[in-house]
Amino acid sequence: MTEQKNILSYPIEYLKGVGPLRADWLKKELNIFTFHDLLHLFPFRHVDKSTISFIKEIKPTTEFIQVAGKLNEIQVLGERRSKRLIAYLRDSTGVVELVWFQGINWVQKFLQEGNNYLVFGRTTMFNNKPQIVHPEIEIYLPKITQEKASFEPIYPSTEKLKAKGLNGKQIAKLTQALFTQINENDLPENIPSTILQQLNLIGRYDAYKNIHFPQNIQVYEQALYRLKFEEFFIAQVRLNLIKLARHKVSKGVKFEKVGNYFNDFYNHHLPFELTNAQKNVIKQIRQDTAKGHQMNRLLQGDVGSGKTIVALLCMLLAADNGYQSCIMAPTETLAQQHFNSISSLIDKEKIQLSLLTGSTKAKERKEILANLKNGTTHFIVGTHALIEDAVQFKNLGFVVVDEQHKFGVAQRAALWKKALTPPHILVMTATPIPRTLAMTAYGDLDYSVMNELPKGRKEITTVHRYDAQRINVMEFIRTELSKGRQAYIIYPLIEESEKLSYEDLKRGYDDVKSYFPEPTYYISMLHGKMPTEQKEVNMKRFVEGKTQIMVSTTVIEVGVNVPNATVMVIESAEKFGLSQLHQLRGRVGRGNEKSFCILLTGSKVSTEAKERIQIMCQTNDGFVIAEKDLILRGPGDVEGTRQSGALNFKLASIVNDKPLLENAKDAAEKLILEDPEINLANNLPLKKYLLQQKGGNNWSKIS
Ligand code: ADP
Ligand code: MG
Repeated sequence: MTEQKNILSYPIEYLKGVGPLRADWLKKELNIFTFHDLLHLFPFRHVDKSTISFIKEIKPTTEFIQVAGKLNEIQVLGERRSKRLIAYLRDSTGVVELVWFQGINWVQKFLQEGNNYLVFGRTTMFNNKPQIVHPEIEIYLPKITQEKASFEPIYPSTEKLKAKGLNGKQIAKLTQALFTQINENDLPENIPSTILQQLNLIGRYDAYKNIHFPQNIQVYEQALYRLKFEEFFIAQVRLNLIKLARHKVSKGVKFEKVGNYFNDFYNHHLPFELTNAQKNVIKQIRQDTAKGHQMNRLLQGDVGSGKTIVALLCMLLAADNGYQSCIMAPTETLAQQHFNSISSLIDKEKIQLSLLTGSTKAKERKEILANLKNGTTHFIVGTHALIEDAVQFKNLGFVVVDEQHKFGVAQRAALWKKALTPPHILVMTATPIPRTLAMTAYGDLDYSVMNELPKGRKEITTVHRYDAQRINVMEFIRTELSKGRQAYIIYPLIEESEKLSYEDLKRGYDDVKSYFPEPTYYISMLHGKMPTEQKEVNMKRFVEGKTQIMVSTTVIEVGVNVPNATVMVIESAEKFGLSQLHQLRGRVGRGNEKSFCILLTGSKVSTEAKERIQIMCQTNDGFVIAEKDLILRGPGDVEGTRQSGALNFKLASIVNDKPLLENAKDAAEKLILEDPEINLANNLPLKKYLLQQKGGNNWSKIS
């Protein structure tokens, strides 16, 4: 069992040029503990010092350049903060200005007019003339310069490390030393050769070598491409293995037949024609639940895409197979709403439906629980109250979790432990996630998308208005109300101070009331801190059309369905994130009338906020918005995503390397489908690699 220790796991102090002291700094500042860690500190760029350009070649688009020439006219200009040293470098083709703001004394001592210098740096244009600020500069000795000509890696360093003499260049020296100590055997191939050939990828060792020390830009790009692919590919293989293992170990109840409950509803009571997206998802779920393994499916549908009816049809399918279903919603209002809409759709003679929330009265609750336990109840809708131990089912077979991100994993797990065989789970989220993010963050789940809205929906018109135009906005609301429509006015929730937020809301409410006085108009108000009962009453009045305006914080956000509401005004819209704005806007445009969303802001709006508002005005498509959100904020911050190691790619980016991710996903899926145990000779290097990695044991256990 004495396997030879991989040199890459050696502590960094074993590297030539790194003593205990430097090792300490590298650990503290850059998290470099081992050879492996240093190998994975990638240069953030390379500078091309293989050629010396002519000064006349500097163009506005030039980034970095190396030039050589005679230095003259060294002079110090300005005072104090604007003090700078300027010099001119001239070759046979032109002249470039060199500028220093710092280290002026040193430069003055070191540079001499009339000498020849080799200069490297980032070029800028100043008054149409080329300029290099803080260039790298050294005496130009043509012969020596030619010998050390290269494509130089620049590594990230930190201020502290630089102060200790470990700047980007010195780190390059360490990496160079590392490569004298490792060879091809230390970085064995982990991608099957067929895939390497198919995608024209270079080998693993070469890739590492060339991402650090390429001879030219082409080989660097090949190296980068290969390593990015590797990151995606390995992650996708893992996700596929997890999914496979889950399907294998998790026995699920079988929904073998489609019976009367489903057919009767589908053929006689469906209130509208299903969209193709809805039909597809139902088909996927039917296939999945018939297989005998537990379904764990994430359903992503844009706001208003009609997820509720999909859930209901699946619950009817469960009932046809003798199983109970439940829907868990994040708030009482939503649970109530699901209860109402399902009540109005189903035949209550045949299907027993109940509602359980925190405010269900004790006596009623007792009865509900009894009926659930003895199997009389088919469907139960509820809030977190469903998770409690007292809630027991006779045979729970299907669980719907609405608006997924409000629940923790543990809470959901508690639900599916309520059955001997775990029930099928359908998690519905209305926060669209870009495809690439879903592929990496949810790749181990079964996954459906509904990116189609029901027919007849009118586009919501979204506009940006400034506070100064408030009167116009109010008049616009008045026009809509006069047609019998309703409106929402939303205030941001200031999380640090519930109290302040309430005062804001109250002021807003009074303000709205002065525009829309009783008895012509009635207004509802909702606030997170309001007693639940009060909330329910106020919401109900709005749902029933007894009030025309709903003034609310974002508690209204998720899922609320009032098709008669056609105006959504969002106050201080600059304070909201994209997905939240989209969610809020999704409260209107749910009926057949034309709807409007008005984003109100003060006169000063940050560039980013402006960008968000612009995107909102341009598109209604939640998936497009999610893509933009991903670009604006990066993968870690996009709402509705779970923490996932799969997102920690060092080189690859799910924003910029989409085609590569698609390739990696296809290749991984194909491989696991053909060789689920990874036993084919061609795939063994991959298996070996996976087993050696952290968590490798885990994988071998389940495979
Ligand atoms: P969400 O996906 O946001 O939860 P809902 O399930 O609340 O959406 O549906 C939004 C509205 O669209 C509801 O009023 C629902 O009755 C209606 N609806 C759902 N599917 C269709 C369809 N295929 N055709 C027309 N209206 C539909
Ligand atoms: Mg919904």
